[in-house]
Amino acid sequence: MGPFSRTELRNDRDLALYVLFTTLLCVSIALAVDVANQLFFFTNWANAIRSWVITVAVVLCIAIPVTRKLGRAQLALYRAGMRDELTGLLNRRAFLDGVDDTTFLALIIVDVDDFKNVNDRHGHWIGDQVLRTTASMMVKLLGEFGRVGRLGGEEFALLAYHDDHATLLDRLEAFRDTIAQTPILTDTIPVSVTISAGVATRNGEQSFQELFIRADSALYEAKASGRNRVVLAQDGEAAGNVTRSLHTEERRWPGR
Ligand code: GH3
Ligand code: MG
Ligand code: MG
Repeated sequence: MGPFSRTELRNDRDLALYVLFTTLLCVSIALAVDVANQLFFFTNWANAIRSWVITVAVVLCIAIPVTRKLGRAQLALYRAGMRDELTGLLNRRAFLDGVDDTTFLALIIVDVDDFKNVNDRHGHWIGDQVLRTTASMMVKLLGEFGRVGRLGGEEFALLAYHDDHATLLDRLEAFRDTIAQTPILTDTIPVSVTISAGVATRNGEQSFQELFIRADSALYEAKASGRNRVVLAQDGEAAGNVTRSLHTEERRWPGR
């Protein structure tokens, strides 16, 4: 897909193509006007060719820096729109939009347990710091396995491209244990939290949506069975009672 078939520039390749095509367009238009002009008021070929060379050179000198600057601004805007402001992770839209191939091998959904209590007891300012630290620890311990994003609220996800599921699960368990064992240092006080995680591995042709529903269902199990745990969705597990849509952030887990 080229940069003209969609509205935004998404990467450096799009930027380069945008600069190239826009510059070529400017050169073509300016040259066409100048060719018409030189041929209509023809004096001699030397003058005509000199004028065309000057026209091309001037347009190149203007169009390349100007389109590069405009393109960079567009790219920066697109990139800023992909990031979650609080944690710096991919936001929900970017995380879900980025799933455009079939090479992923596992999906993990992580949810901070009883996070509402953290806010209620310590305030949102401290709650935000807990989310930031949880996100950065997730990237540190699991980031090498794939893309980490914030789905919304106190919910994060990892789309893994790694085929060593045993290692991935070990590392996820280590992440859960580290969070549970290590109070998070905030501006004022250390805050202890735990996380629950649902994992779905991909074996065959399942779509991302199927994987998402299975991971979500496994997370529901983790919550229902006591929290602070990782639950691996069984192969071919039915979507169960989970009726939430992929694009809905509203969710209520079972209480303690
Ligand atoms: P459970 O163990 O079932 O997941 O319980 P919970 O309290 O974590 O879940 P619940 O969905 O009841 O509460 C989530 C809370 O997360 C409620 C909401 O105010 C808070 N929250 C969502 N986004 C943010 C945020 O960006 N910053 C802060 N500080 N709190 C947030
Ligand atoms: Mg929660
Ligand atoms: Mg939640």
